Amino acid sequence: MQQVADIVVIGSGIGGSSLAHSLADTGKRIVILERGEHLKDTPESRDDVAIFQKGYYKSSEEWIGTDGKPFLPGNYYYVGGNSKFYGAVMYRYRAEDFEPRQHIGGRSPGWPIRYADLEPWYERAEEIFQVHGAMGQDPTDPPRSHPFAHPPVPDEPAIAAVRDRLRKAGVRPSSLPLAINVDEWLRRAQTGWDAFPNTGAGKIDAESGPLTSALRHPNVSIVTGATVLRLETDQSGRRVTAAIFLKDGVEHRIGAGVFAVAAGAVQSAALLLRSANDAHPRGLANGSDQVGRNFMNHNTSALLAIDPWSANTAVYQKTLAFNDFYNGDPVTGYPLGNVQLLGRITGNILKANLPAAPSWIAGLIARHAYGWFLTSEDLPNPDSRIMVRDGRIVVNWVRSNMQAHKALIERTRAVMRKAGFPIVLVRTFGRKTTSHQCGTARLGDDARTSVVNPDCRTHDVENLYVTDASVLPTSAAVNPALTVAALAIKAGAAIKGV
Ligand SMILES: Cc1cc2nc3c(=O)[nH]c(=O)nc-3n(C[C@H](O)[C@H](O)[C@H](O)COP(=O)(O)OP(=O)(O)OC[C@H]3O[C@@H](n4cnc5c(N)ncnc54)[C@H](O)[C@@H]3O)c2cc1C
Repeated sequence: MQQVADIVVIGSGIGGSSLAHSLADTGKRIVILERGEHLKDTPESRDDVAIFQKGYYKSSEEWIGTDGKPFLPGNYYYVGGNSKFYGAVMYRYRAEDFEPRQHIGGRSPGWPIRYADLEPWYERAEEIFQVHGAMGQDPTDPPRSHPFAHPPVPDEPAIAAVRDRLRKAGVRPSSLPLAINVDEWLRRAQTGWDAFPNTGAGKIDAESGPLTSALRHPNVSIVTGATVLRLETDQSGRRVTAAIFLKDGVEHRIGAGVFAVAAGAVQSAALLLRSANDAHPRGLANGSDQVGRNFMNHNTSALLAIDPWSANTAVYQKTLAFNDFYNGDPVTGYPLGNVQLLGRITGNILKANLPAAPSWIAGLIARHAYGWFLTSEDLPNPDSRIMVRDGRIVVNWVRSNMQAHKALIERTRAVMRKAGFPIVLVRTFGRKTTSHQCGTARLGDDARTSVVNPDCRTHDVENLYVTDASVLPTSAAVNPALTVAALAIKAGAAIKGV
């Protein structure tokens, strides 16, 4: 079946929806092809047993690991993509993240653009995602042309007390920048939002934010349940002519003037590799042989700081962070990373991670625990890569810079002990946690070493863009979504020619 559009966007996650939003007012026929369906509001959407213990929302699609064994990644396929489940932390990369810098485990190469080049696009992204935050608390914050439009999400009393204890322990806690309308979120149920699906409007994700406003334009539409199998080019290989997608078991073809791939860092790389043809024998837009390479995933750990003498009464918890070790470790001088609160860890959530523990023990620990999420930069490495073998996705993640992550854990442990949390438990996440996947179609000026230019247009194919986490040339150590959105909006301006 043949269809036609002006612009086809593949994927409705943060990157695809932000791009569609920025192009919606052009009047051009924009068709978004999305593999997943709309999430429905059912009792499971706020049920921590269904979500964390039973894996109710998980996909059954397995990827293959370096050891040749299949695994189930934490990757979601719904309208809005992974952002339906995200923690809504919307950090800007720090200005230093755009510059080359030395880490304990190697060198981060920097970006072809500076922070100042992206600042106006960050501002637009914050507007679309209604980011709530505070200026002047976090010394690593990059300069802003305007204050946040929305005040920070308030600390609950238990968290306000933690903020105070951390201050006394010598660090500088700051309010997390959050795409959350907390009253609206809590109206549906008294739970946190981190890793809970958004089936209402309290969390501003790719669907409830940019996609909903893009779809108000009659020229923008979405086809759900549409899995793009490959892209076709003309004979010269300079232009994509059609996307071939599967819907309800039937193959469809859609032609357009511009195509944007935004299927997520792993799936976008796989799609480009699957689209190899005579003009692009190594994969579409892969003259540099960089498609699928430089896969990064952040080094992350959950740290439980336990105070046996007082109960954590927080419901959502996730409002606080500190970046004291972000740019410089007091011991080694090297950058270590970010420390931010996780969403409130209930007994049921803890039990999902400690299945052998009796429920009452998990409940008891959770009652006294404050969960933190520690993130350190994973450095780009061409050998860390996504491949497609016999039609299946192979993830050869070569993680890097773990020395920095271990140092971050030790510094944070010391801070927590000083702040009166005598018991500190740590669990480092592995390959199944693909939440912060990025880097597989890196942005750069040089067509020999990168896949897209700073406007996210592929070097090799003139009407093909990549506008998702694939294009991040470095992972930094803050959450990626706002940077993905800012780059996609910038790409939209380039497509419009403004
Ligand atoms: C539990 C969790 C918590 C997180 N918390 C945060 C946070 O607090 N802050 C933050 O910045 N980031 C967070 N992240 C990461 C953030 O969600 C991602 O970085 C971001 O959503 C990536 O957006 P994307 O557009 O690159 O891709 P995705 O979100 O993966 O979107 C890709 C879309 O493409 C669709 N798709 C895939 N293949 C195809 C195909 N072949 N054809 C058609 N459609 C296809 C998918 O279904 C999906 O909708 C979190 C992630 C998770 C899972």
